[in-house]
Amino acid sequence: MKNFESLGLSKKLLEAVESEGYTTPTPVQEQSIPPLLAGRDVLGVAQTGTGKTAAFALPVLQIMSRSKTQGKRHIKALILSPTRELAAQIGERFSAYGEHLDIRHKVIFGGVNQNPQVRALQKGIDVLVATPGRLLDLINQGHIDITRVEFFVLDEADRMLDMGFIRDIKKVLKLLPKRRQNLLFSATMPKSIADLAGSFLHNAIMIDVSPKEITVDRIKQKIMFVRKADKRRLLVNLIKEEKVRCGIVFTRTKHGANRLVKQLDQSRINAAAIHGNKSQGARTKALAGFKNGSIAILVATDIASRGIDVDGITHVFNYDLPNEPESYVHRIGRTARAGRSGIAYGFCDESESGYLVGIQQLIGREIDTDIGHEFHFSGAIPKPDQKPGKIKQKKPSNKKPNNRNKQKNQGKKNSKNGSRSKPKRYNNNSKRNNNQRPRSNNNRSRRNQSRDSK
Ligand code: AMP
Repeated sequence: MKNFESLGLSKKLLEAVESEGYTTPTPVQEQSIPPLLAGRDVLGVAQTGTGKTAAFALPVLQIMSRSKTQGKRHIKALILSPTRELAAQIGERFSAYGEHLDIRHKVIFGGVNQNPQVRALQKGIDVLVATPGRLLDLINQGHIDITRVEFFVLDEADRMLDMGFIRDIKKVLKLLPKRRQNLLFSATMPKSIADLAGSFLHNAIMIDVSPKEITVDRIKQKIMFVRKADKRRLLVNLIKEEKVRCGIVFTRTKHGANRLVKQLDQSRINAAAIHGNKSQGARTKALAGFKNGSIAILVATDIASRGIDVDGITHVFNYDLPNEPESYVHRIGRTARAGRSGIAYGFCDESESGYLVGIQQLIGREIDTDIGHEFHFSGAIPKPDQKPGKIKQKKPSNKKPNNRNKQKNQGKKNSKNGSRSKPKRYNNNSKRNNNQRPRSNNNRSRRNQSRDSK
């Protein structure tokens, strides 16, 4: 195993690494630092928690410190991050690693007053860490010049695309000078990311710390089959039984996260939600409370959780199983950091067994199950021939049945499933068949659902 000295880092950076308590480089650091120092482009498949920030921050700092800027400082390194939290954490890492160097960095993101950011930029900086929207805003206002950037990092590229930043990224790329060094990190490498990488990386070294390796052995995983309606009680029981002081709960939607926080509060469990609809102030407060131990449970959606870097998380609860198998790996990677152990519980309800099949395919093994708990529901266990992915609800047939027949069928279906839901009623004035859901309504709810899941 290599040590940091052998990677070619300068004395001042080695001192900083030592004061952070790092003794050996992580695989992504070992593989990316030497080529980056040699001026190569790097394409890295790695997620948060693997030490990837140091993998690019250390070489960037070293390259920056080789030459001193004459006159006013200008932006020589640009790091794009999808979320504010991640941007702030990258900024913290730059402060730590650059402690002994004369390199100034600044973090900018939206949702807060731009004036302090503009003032700091006017003084001159060497390294800029930014989210795409605020970066473009300030470029358009003439406060930022990226035409002399020598080092460009696109972090969490898959998340960037998920969040709809592709056009912003392309705009930024157009403004950068041709000659520069590039680095792209992504937790997954779908074709869209490979295409994006191909569009601006030159002769890049490929580094792969793939999710299979990342499903670290230190994380104990357990799946519990449960009815949707019983998930909350199961969660409360586990939190109380296991005296969880630092745990993170993942829900699929922002609304679900808010509701769960209220319900946990009623069970006298201190929780806070963190998701894209929360103001920057509320997110920072929730994270600070979580870090200092006054909040035991953080309820998060996937995207908001990306930047959370808290070492002592002992429990991860997949309250809703994620529909993207890769997200499962990201989520459980929130625990068992920095050499500690952790446990990840997955609650699988009757509509999620296909997601479980997909997750198990990705990680290449079956996850242990706990069927001895109070709320065990065998109806949620995947069927032997279950396909991965969403469990398709039966679509209504395209044929226009006469109303009376359809109503009769609807009634039968409801009673067979034991569903208590009433048949939906629509505007009687509509010329549409009464049992058909108006298309616009359908689309709107689908749109809201996908917006809410970010
Ligand atoms: P990152 O993947 O960059 O978000 O880093 C995850 C965590 O690992 C952070 O808390 C870092 O401080 C820590 N870390 C990074 N590199 C090392 C290392 N070589 N040894 C121990 N911890 C590290």
